[in-house]
Amino acid sequence: MPTALEEIIKQTIRDTGPMNLAHYMALCLGHPTHGYYMTRDPFGEKGDFTTAPEISQMFGELIGAWIADSWVKMGTPKKFILLECGPGRGTLMMDAMRATQNVDGFHEAVQIHLLEMSPVLRSLQAERLSQYDATWHDDLSTLPTDYPIIVIGNEFLDALPVRQLTWCETGWKEKTVNIDKNDTLCLYDVEAKNEVIEALTPFLIPPQVGEQVEVSLEQQRLLNDLINIVLKQGGILLFVDYGFVHNVAGDTIQAVKNHSYCDLLETPGEADITAHVNFSEISQIAMKKNMMVHGPVSQGEYLKRLGISIREGLLKENATKLQQRDIEAAVKRLIGEDTKNNEMGKLFKVIAFSSNSNINLAGFV
Ligand code: SAH
Repeated sequence: MPTALEEIIKQTIRDTGPMNLAHYMALCLGHPTHGYYMTRDPFGEKGDFTTAPEISQMFGELIGAWIADSWVKMGTPKKFILLECGPGRGTLMMDAMRATQNVDGFHEAVQIHLLEMSPVLRSLQAERLSQYDATWHDDLSTLPTDYPIIVIGNEFLDALPVRQLTWCETGWKEKTVNIDKNDTLCLYDVEAKNEVIEALTPFLIPPQVGEQVEVSLEQQRLLNDLINIVLKQGGILLFVDYGFVHNVAGDTIQAVKNHSYCDLLETPGEADITAHVNFSEISQIAMKKNMMVHGPVSQGEYLKRLGISIREGLLKENATKLQQRDIEAAVKRLIGEDTKNNEMGKLFKVIAFSSNSNINLAGFV
């Protein structure tokens, strides 16, 4: 049975021709009625995937401590915007706020803002954050313009739609979604348009014939917009995600359903789709705008430097034997380097960009 979204995608292709992968990904994740994030809570054991804040409260608590420390390093502004991009269930923000409740002046200064497209997740976030004053945004245009800002995003950039190109003897080809003879969705190469080639060029190491590269115009746009806000209002951006430190060619788009990989085209709207973040590219975007780049460092290194073992020790003091084992397992999952065993410490990276070049942010040094 084709999903309702599959029918909509096919009709769009019949009407306007093959669809680039970013357009396909954007519909799969964000179609107003059938998009993956718009219709469900995808996280946890029963969902499709688990993220760091859902593994343990320690993750959000340490990020909270990092935010408070950064706020102090920014000169303890009386008011500041704390924007989380793609807050999921709101767990990270809830843990960060709890962890900072005793930091003098912090809760009086912080204004919580959330960039979230999913109505289902917005209501979960509202539940978790009910004791705080939070404001939701569809895009960045409605953010206050008169305060410094700290932006955080965990596994947010990887959800932004990407396009895929292959270098051929005759030039760039772009991978699109089309319909085959059996009325099934299929991948199909077309001549790449200039708009996407231009977006790619500044970051590119000349590829070999047959190599694929990925580019996210949405990611570039959003990052540039956030950087412009930070440059105007003062502040810091922090992103945690999985990806490459150096430019790497290849197909990294993956669809995940029930904690397993599945075919990208099989059940549009029912699988999570993500792509590796190219940390080299996002650093170059920030450097071009004279932002100070901190990292990237591995998530394992970052959390160790923020004191995850101390937090682990404190939590274990008041825990039963069983809970102590769970805490140890969570720490291993967050900082361990065995990527094949779903350990996140090495695969995930942390990067920050600041408008102030004379600032040493915790976790990076
Ligand atoms: N940060 C959370 C969730 C990560 S999943 C965690 O670590 O658990 C990605 C999140 O980004 C979801 O909340 C999803 O709804 C949101 N999202 C994805 N694309 C978005 C977009 N274009 N605009 C706003 N939110 C988006």
